[in-house]
Amino acid sequence: AERKKKVAAVIEEVERTLATPTALLRGISDALVLEMERGLRGDIHSQLKMLISYVDNLPTGDEHGLFYALDLGGTNFRVLRVQLGGREKRVVKQQYEEVSIPPHLMIGTSLELFDFIAAVLAKFVDTEGDEYHLPVGRQRELGFTFSFPVNQLSISSGTLIKWTKGFSINGTVGEDVVAELSKAMERQGLDMKVTALVNDTVGTLAGGRYMDNDVVAAVILGTGTNAAYVEHANAIPKWTGLLPKSGNMVINTEWGSFKSDKLPLSEYDKALDFESLNPGEQIYEKLISGMYLGEIVRRILLKLAHDAALFGDVVPAKLELPFVLRTPDMSAMHHDASHDLKILGSKLKDIVGVADTSLEVRYITRHICDIVAERGARLAAAGIYGILKKLGRDKVPADGSPMPRTVVALDGGLYEHYKKFSSCLEATLSDLLGEEASSSLVAKLANDGSGIGAALLAASHSQYA
Ligand code: ADP
Ligand code: MG
Repeated sequence: AERKKKVAAVIEEVERTLATPTALLRGISDALVLEMERGLRGDIHSQLKMLISYVDNLPTGDEHGLFYALDLGGTNFRVLRVQLGGREKRVVKQQYEEVSIPPHLMIGTSLELFDFIAAVLAKFVDTEGDEYHLPVGRQRELGFTFSFPVNQLSISSGTLIKWTKGFSINGTVGEDVVAELSKAMERQGLDMKVTALVNDTVGTLAGGRYMDNDVVAAVILGTGTNAAYVEHANAIPKWTGLLPKSGNMVINTEWGSFKSDKLPLSEYDKALDFESLNPGEQIYEKLISGMYLGEIVRRILLKLAHDAALFGDVVPAKLELPFVLRTPDMSAMHHDASHDLKILGSKLKDIVGVADTSLEVRYITRHICDIVAERGARLAAAGIYGILKKLGRDKVPADGSPMPRTVVALDGGLYEHYKKFSSCLEATLSDLLGEEASSSLVAKLANDGSGIGAALLAASHSQYA
């Protein structure tokens, strides 16, 4: 009975400190919009970098030819080739390959990482079949999706601001990542030119727009989280170049670094942040994204084990290990709909090393997954709502004109695979928008849109165009 009381007390405290009532979400959206505006002004204190992508035109559908793309952004990296057939034939053929990044390369040297990538790419190019056509005398061209914050210098160059998402490599910050990649390709004897350097959000936006003309923003919910959207060039005070003909500029918000007193930070979040590779940074990301959700759940379970003997008198040693509970496992536990929570039980056995958990312990575990996932999804929805507000697409126009159809392209393993997360996000977004505005909003999965998007941007920025 004493144990039960303690369990209830911890859970109650978790529920309270992780709560995200709708009014709080609205406040968070407003704070985000203010930070977006500060970032666009170039205020040095702004948390959001609001990076200028140099993409002032999104794909039209007329792109044609053979293009490659490379996507480096998290646990996996992908290489892709596509034969584009213009307006009529669209994507004639595409192939991709996915390779997971050996963990030691994520904390090794820049040289090793880029050599590894270029080697995989070179091997992939060797398998190019007859269906792909490169006009005689031309160099192959590549769109490079690089999902870390970059100070873009042009559409095809940019320097790394910092690593995130568990990458920590000496000697890359401040370097032009396209130059690094190009040198590595040369070392591999690969004759290929990088014509576009894009963030994955920008790639997803481009890929999304190619599929649907009403796409105005893209959001990534994977290992990390980020968003990009189409801004009016004249609403970017820090942009000192010529106004682009289109009048538009794609902005990479780098919203993962958003921080606000309004964000519901619990003791678990603070400890996670403190012990992370980048303390004090990427706070919004640490509440939302796939790299961290499972880890937050682990920390809460550990507290329950310590304070309330959730798993018996001894605290399971495995539960002390940071990151042993991964978000895909959390998702599997959360989705267990069997009457005895059998899947959840066997996950606990595998991960925590406790066999024969009681049904009560399993229910508690699932409830913790629910609280953590729900908070992440609701905060992500608040972010999207903020962008829609910034775009003036959050409510029915005051002049009585019809609400324009608005599409947000979403991608990333978290959004794609964690059903309870994505449905909570969508429900929350509808709730924030209200019935009328939400009826013209479409959240669309742009599966691997960033790869094709990068290839499309490589095409529109081809040296031969
Ligand atoms: P990245 O963000 O690394 O480029 P992805 O978009 O593929 O790659 O996202 C991978 C991330 O998505 C994983 O780190 C994991 O956190 C999350 N994820 C993958 N599968 C699932 C799943 N079944 N349930 C919940 N999260 C998942
Ligand atoms: Mg990715």
